Amino acid sequence: MTMNLNMGIEIFSLTKKTALITGGGTGIGLGIAKAMIAAGATVVITGRDADKLLKAQKKLGDNCFYFVFDVTQKAAIPHFINEIENAVAPIDILVNNAGIHLKKWALDTSDAEFENIIQTNLLSVFGLSKACAKKMSERTGGTILFIGSMAGIFGIDRVAAYGTSKAALTGLMHSLVTEFSTYNIRINTIVPGWIESPMFLNAVNSDPLRKQKITSRIAMDSFGTPADIGYTAVFLSSTAARYITGVVLPVDGGAAINF
Ligand code: NDP
Repeated sequence: MTMNLNMGIEIFSLTKKTALITGGGTGIGLGIAKAMIAAGATVVITGRDADKLLKAQKKLGDNCFYFVFDVTQKAAIPHFINEIENAVAPIDILVNNAGIHLKKWALDTSDAEFENIIQTNLLSVFGLSKACAKKMSERTGGTILFIGSMAGIFGIDRVAAYGTSKAALTGLMHSLVTEFSTYNIRINTIVPGWIESPMFLNAVNSDPLRKQKITSRIAMDSFGTPADIGYTAVFLSSTAARYITGVVLPVDGGAAINF
């Protein structure tokens, strides 16, 4: 691609792009949807709960469409992607944001619980990325984002299944970068630090000691917001990031490097 160095701020724009954001009805996914719409994109949000999605769609406005879909229904993913592309537009940006958490000691975690986390946080990401990449590879390319976690970088107690699912995303990303770059598909992982969302508040409000430990780690001394992740997602999906692929980017107020 030849770059026009006189190009202005529009290099960060997502105008004429369509983004599919799984779990886009709440928390971080909603923050990403808002930021992408502000950057000019049309956004499709998905989740299992129609009421949540409708509420979000009302906030997000006419450039938002919603589809009820459980990402663990892996066999249905190719049909689901076709449905979106026929009803809305070809997907240029896939944000694999949907995820579930499990806070339990490893010794108390059943195999079924572990598998459930892997199904939602890892295998669905593979299925969706594969289905979208097939379409993107037939066009001019596209971008895919994964949402990792500090629990995929650090050893943290009581998140064996969740931490494993998030750490494995990095391995998946590395592999896909070697295969998808040839189709002009970029893949990056955003690692949110501690971001105020329903999932985070549920996890820490019942555990003051954990909250205190987390707070003491964050160099910038405050929790992040879904908007912080949204702006990062916009940048990584824009032409401004055209040479960035395979990166794991913490957005964490310095938590990952604060001793
Ligand atoms: P939320 O619980 O607000 O969001 C999770 C979203 O995923 C919901 O919209 C939910 O929608 C959707 N979802 C869950 N399971 C499924 C499923 N089977 N099929 C379709 N959608 C599903 O939490 P966050 O916004 O915090 O989490 C978003 C992502 O960010 C997750 O991947 C999480 O691991 C990650 N993350 C969050 C951090 C934080 O501090 N908040 C830190 C690091 C990572 P519905 O219930 O309608 O299905």
